[in-house]
Order: sequence, then structure tokens, then C-alpha cells
Amino acid sequence: MDRPNEDDLVDVDLYDDGSFPEYGFLQAPGAVAVFAALRGTGPIPETGLVTRRQLRALGLSPGGQEPIAGLTWRNGLRKAWFYRIELAVPKRTPTLAQEMALDRAMAARQTCPECRRRYYACLPLRTQGRCDACEKGFEPSPDTVMIPAPDTHRLAA
Ligand SMILES: [Zn+2]
Repeated sequence: MDRPNEDDLVDVDLYDDGSFPEYGFLQAPGAVAVFAALRGTGPIPETGLVTRRQLRALGLSPGGQEPIAGLTWRNGLRKAWFYRIELAVPKRTPTLAQEMALDRAMAARQTCPECRRRYYACLPLRTQGRCDACEKGFEPSPDTVMIPAPDTHRLAA
């Protein structure tokens, strides 16, 4: 049996059929045009590959498509998926009702049931059950309180 010539041997990756290319920084098709659009010095390109964050910055979202390529930078330490910009759709904005529902949910976590103050931070309601000011008996600093207690008023009289 003939020994294969060492020079003829090649590494074969059985799982790489070439259908999912990996690109380096600024090497993907249309990358320069995408960066120009992100800087505001050019229009949004018709075709090209963009990452999810780049889509977000352009006011777009992937729109259900699967990533078709990869982006690798910093010697493989950082990776991202590439999407086709021609299949992207405008990003969704929440309706007023959805924003109100979010605010109600946050208000429930930020409002003290005892003094009715609403704080910017979420309160330890499950463990402490009330705000630190009520628990330890001090007046909270005004920059932590979003909405003061209902019975406090700011009228001069
Ligand atoms: Zn309180």
C-alpha cells in the first residue's frame, strides 16, 4: 500500500460545507456601506450583512430570519451573527397600552405599601415589605424618590 504523500493531506472539517461563512471586521459584503449608514454619512444599503445591534441602530429588526453568517473579531474572542439587511423589517415600538402596563408593573415594585412613596429603585418588598426609610425610620433623600408620599404637599401655606 502506498503511503500518502504528507504534502497532499488537507484538513477537512466535516461540518463545514461552506454555507455559513465567517467574516472578520469590515470583511463582510457591504460592511463599509453599513458603517457609513451607522455614522450617518450614507444611506441604508439595499443589500449586505448586518449584526443585530447594527440593525437596531438603523431602526430595523431581523424580522424572523435566521442568521446566515458569522462575524468574528478580536482573534475569535468576540462573535456575532450576521443578518441580511434586505430581509430586515422596521423595529416594533410598544403601544401606549404596553408602555402603561410596563409602568404599572414597575410601580408595583418601586412603591412602598406603607408610605406610598415611589422610588427610582425597586424595593425589597418580598423580604422587608417596605422601604428602608420606613424600616429604619429616616427621611429618604429626595433624589431617590420619584413620587413623594401622597399626603406631603409642596405648597407654601
Ligand atoms: Zn415607606
